[in-house]
Amino acid sequence: GDQALQPGDSGKPNSSSDLPLESLKKVLTEDSAAGKVKRKRAQTPLEKYYLKYLCVTDLSTQSWCEQQMVYGRELPQLQAPETVVLLNTGKSIHLARELEVHDVVRVHVTSREDSWAIKILNLLSVIPELQAGGCVRELPVFGVIEDVFLMGVIDELCYSAMGELELRELKTRGRPFMPSGAQKKRDYFQVCLYKYIFDAMVQGKLKPDVITSHIQLRPEQPLGSQIREHAQKVGFTVTCFGDLLELMYLNLTLSDIPGIDCLKIEYSHQESNTLLGTEVVRFEEEKVREKAQHYLAYWKGQREVQGVEIEEAWKCQSCSYSEICDWRKKRAEGPEQRSGPKKSK
Ligand code: SF4
Repeated sequence: GDQALQPGDSGKPNSSSDLPLESLKKVLTEDSAAGKVKRKRAQTPLEKYYLKYLCVTDLSTQSWCEQQMVYGRELPQLQAPETVVLLNTGKSIHLARELEVHDVVRVHVTSREDSWAIKILNLLSVIPELQAGGCVRELPVFGVIEDVFLMGVIDELCYSAMGELELRELKTRGRPFMPSGAQKKRDYFQVCLYKYIFDAMVQGKLKPDVITSHIQLRPEQPLGSQIREHAQKVGFTVTCFGDLLELMYLNLTLSDIPGIDCLKIEYSHQESNTLLGTEVVRFEEEKVREKAQHYLAYWKGQREVQGVEIEEAWKCQSCSYSEICDWRKKRAEGPEQRSGPKKSK
């Protein structure tokens, strides 16, 4: 990659490689001594995992059990194999649906800006379809909540017979019945976040510099030749990353695409491919923002990680991490052992 992982925060000049060994040891010792007086700020989880943005699914998974989401990131090898199989099958079903409406093109990328250019081109190429009242699938969305950059992919956006813009999220299930209330709650939060981000995008809130500053991308970076060629094919002449950002902003704000009117989740049984049921989700902006605020507080290091509350302890029974879970152990020891504020609802 072309990015340094983390800038050094010792405040020392960058000439340490020129120092003789003894001087270097002295510098390090002085640093440690200084550390006793002035404590180094603890890393936030975003910094610890080198994350410049989060995915919407990170937040919805977190709403099931935050501790489980953290273990999933740190110890993915402990995840039950059937969960992995289900996730992979879900991905191929999504791809098959995507291929029904458009082809997938392989493009060589030469920089981080190129990788983001692809996401933006994917978005740009579906705007005319949406404007013409068509149906689009796998639509990338980006936005900022609580100063954290979020990105997601909407399964499907279509106009209903009533002319309303409808989001459809497809969930495949291993078992042939509808999910529990708790699973539905997680999925509701996911689609509500999509609407929150999408609406802000079409309202012109996603300014080009929001993307470059949060993700640390260079607007002046020239795009790779394959990206430029691909952009040309879908009708855009661009040379640098900033050109694409401007185009995205203008196209979104001038397109007259409305906000999302209706949120639907379709649950289907994976093996038989039968529809199990459809849920219509009510969007309550204030509640969505509050929930997002609570989950993002963990990422920003404003509170400790939390596991499930006692009334949801049944979740632990099917959790891949129940044997090693610190939260579960502490809960068994008694409520006074736990750290962190009580989880807000
Ligand atoms: Fe969360 Fe329970 Fe799993 Fe711990 S054991 S990660 S609290 S679901």
